[in-house]
Amino acid sequence: VVELDCLPFGVGHTDEGVCLLLRLGPYRVLLDCGLKNIDAIMVKPGQPPADLVLCSHAHRDHAEGLLELRRRFPQLPIYASETTTQLLALNWPGIDAKFIHHICQALPWRTPVEFCEGLSAELIPAGHLPGASAFLLTLNTPQRAYTVLYTGDCFLSNSRLVEGFPLDELRGLRPDVLIVEGTYGTARHPRRRQQENRLAGRIITALDRGQSVLLPAPALGLGQELLMLLRSHHQFTGRDLDIWVDGDVAQGCDAYLEILPHLPTSVQNFAQHQPLFWDDRVRPRVHRLADRRQRFCRETSPCVVLTDLNSSLEQYQTPERQHWLVLRPQLNSWQAENSDLSDQVQSELYLLADHCDGMATAQLIHNLRPQHVIFVHGSPAYLADLTSMEELYSRYHLHLPQVGHRVELPIGQTFLQPLAPDRLYEGELAELESVVSLTLPQSLTADPRWRNFADTGLVEARWQGEELVLRGVPQWEMLNQTPDLARIRDRACCATCHYFRGQHCRNPVSPLYELKVTPDGFCPSYQKIEVSH
Ligand SMILES: [Zn+2]
Ligand SMILES: [Zn+2]
Repeated sequence: VVELDCLPFGVGHTDEGVCLLLRLGPYRVLLDCGLKNIDAIMVKPGQPPADLVLCSHAHRDHAEGLLELRRRFPQLPIYASETTTQLLALNWPGIDAKFIHHICQALPWRTPVEFCEGLSAELIPAGHLPGASAFLLTLNTPQRAYTVLYTGDCFLSNSRLVEGFPLDELRGLRPDVLIVEGTYGTARHPRRRQQENRLAGRIITALDRGQSVLLPAPALGLGQELLMLLRSHHQFTGRDLDIWVDGDVAQGCDAYLEILPHLPTSVQNFAQHQPLFWDDRVRPRVHRLADRRQRFCRETSPCVVLTDLNSSLEQYQTPERQHWLVLRPQLNSWQAENSDLSDQVQSELYLLADHCDGMATAQLIHNLRPQHVIFVHGSPAYLADLTSMEELYSRYHLHLPQVGHRVELPIGQTFLQPLAPDRLYEGELAELESVVSLTLPQSLTADPRWRNFADTGLVEARWQGEELVLRGVPQWEMLNQTPDLARIRDRACCATCHYFRGQHCRNPVSPLYELKVTPDGFCPSYQKIEVSH
């Protein structure tokens, strides 16, 4: 028997990163390494923690520990998509780029690669961030194949600079295990386009009132999405406006220019007619603040500044530009409306989501139909909201892992997966001399409802429009309705016995067990039926 389990070193609750050790039979695969300190994963001193490492995308909470891992184990293979290998360096400013480039080996999209005998992985674009990938791991054994899909951070919708997770390609995959992120829990979001319009409208209103707008953003992903939104949204194109980009967000923009051939075609087309980001000519203009600080300080008209999440506003306030609106991204669902700034500064939260909302997460799971689902990445309360959704827990084996606690993933035996709700059974009709017989496949009896349906062995048919509806007649109803049975309903006889089903005795201790009996029969093992209706 092949054993599957998952030992989490980081499950992405609130501030911690993601790092999961997946065991597939004889192999151990480390999924992401978003830990600041990797001591915890050194289970055996001096020995690599896994046979290989897969990095889903370049965000810090998934990649931070990779550099240290590479230093300690130069031979340990680490893999990611080509785009991710290019974006990773931003996590370690000041480290020699040559060294960074050797951290990770690039794998192609949608092509299973065999790492060890029987163990392969396929990369599927996951939306969320350019290069972000889901991993479909397969372990082939003589008996069967075992499959695990790890989504990393994923987003079903298209954003401006990355296409959404191609759910169509994976519909009906039925992996044994799905490891999925649940950042936003069961929250419901408006469509991405609506979120964009709302934000664009808010920025325009502020500018029209003479306020400048500060947009603190993570260095990779949201920063460039915001810039692209400002560059291409109809409310901004042609507008006489200067957008200033500062801090790591500017480095992030440079990194995006390097991966331009991997960005969506629409973006590449855009970039053929005008620069993607740095542009002095086409309105709205975009400048790197570090290069033009003097000009930035000279100007007086309201502007937009994009900078790092933890930057303070003071460094951008000039005598001419005193009125600011700070727009902070709602990066997760537990983040409350907050303001660490003074009362004079207006600060608001906005939503421009790059993770699935609750509806999309459920949709993803229903389309894949896994046996086990492991939820990571999000506040424990929001992840628990997902595991308490009836539509999920009634169909799949759900897990909410804790750091350091192994999640066992038994395949097949322990959880009877309910049948798809709209399953159809094909049968055959035969018109005989005095009756009609209907034959249905035996697989019908595997449904837990079959026992009730077949309780008495009698069915009732009635027309519903052009369709014929079948219904099993329960024992209690039979007693009430059949005239000659009604006579004996108060007597102690087979007809009123708990074990009388389908005209047979089903009482293992009765001498009549499994024999066809008449309703007015009797034996010493008689037990009165409980009529609850
Ligand atoms: Zn991410
Ligand atoms: Zn993440």
